[in-house]
Amino acid sequence: MPSRKKARGRQNRAKKEATRTVEQRSLWEPTVLRGNPGVVTVPCEHTLTAPPQIPPEGPAVSFMNHIAGLGFFNKATLFRIEPLMKTCFDAVLSLRLPGVRKEDKERSLVIDLLLRFVRNSFVRDARIEGEKWYYQYHENEAAICCMIYLLELLGTYSDMIVVRRRAAKMGNKLAGGNRRDAVKFVAKRLPCTCLKELHSITRMKVAKEGQCHNCAKQIPRSQLHVCTGCMMVEYCCRECQRADWKDHKQFCGYPEVMSRFLHSDYCVFKRS
Ligand SMILES: [Zn+2]
Ligand SMILES: [Zn+2]
Ligand SMILES: [Zn+2]
Repeated sequence: MPSRKKARGRQNRAKKEATRTVEQRSLWEPTVLRGNPGVVTVPCEHTLTAPPQIPPEGPAVSFMNHIAGLGFFNKATLFRIEPLMKTCFDAVLSLRLPGVRKEDKERSLVIDLLLRFVRNSFVRDARIEGEKWYYQYHENEAAICCMIYLLELLGTYSDMIVVRRRAAKMGNKLAGGNRRDAVKFVAKRLPCTCLKELHSITRMKVAKEGQCHNCAKQIPRSQLHVCTGCMMVEYCCRECQRADWKDHKQFCGYPEVMSRFLHSDYCVFKRS
């Protein structure tokens, strides 16, 4: 019977989907909820306030599961630097998750969950890994921070060009930077004594770094030169700026389409 076969197929698909949802949720929920009671030594927001109520389902939860499927909560995920911001935009604008963009409550919940995820894994990992923690930087941290920033912007500005421009600038900084930038980003947004402490230690140990837009070399930010045409992309030397000009001149002066994290055709396509 073909109809019975179809029904069984539907059932199997639903079962698979349910298993996948549980797996994706397990990638973020435990870290969000665990205030690291075992490793937090100072009295802190970690132990003093209750974690947010996470509903069984809804736009925020499906959004979190969706980006879990994209590898946002996996340290081993390598986000290709080029389309990182595009990945964030696509996830937010994706029609499957309209609630996150429209409803403020859901958007704020996602921001809260993401901040807690990064904060809790920072505090936990720093205690476990010790000295070497300060010098590692996982691409998924930059990706999560970019996502948080994008969601904040969407709640603040209705002009998408402004959102894209600001998101691109922060994306450049976070993806080209190191742990110092990510820790600062989270510490600024989530009151937590342990994270503040981590931030001040990171500031002593790790120099501000940025990435040359041409050769991708990571060097101290003070040694980078910014393009005066747009004040957005940076180069390690004059030669690199010259070498990149034939590509960069198409975008220079159009900051909203200029980030290497936003593909030019994507921007042109979305700008209309
Ligand atoms: Zn804390
Ligand atoms: Zn260079
Ligand atoms: Zn420029």
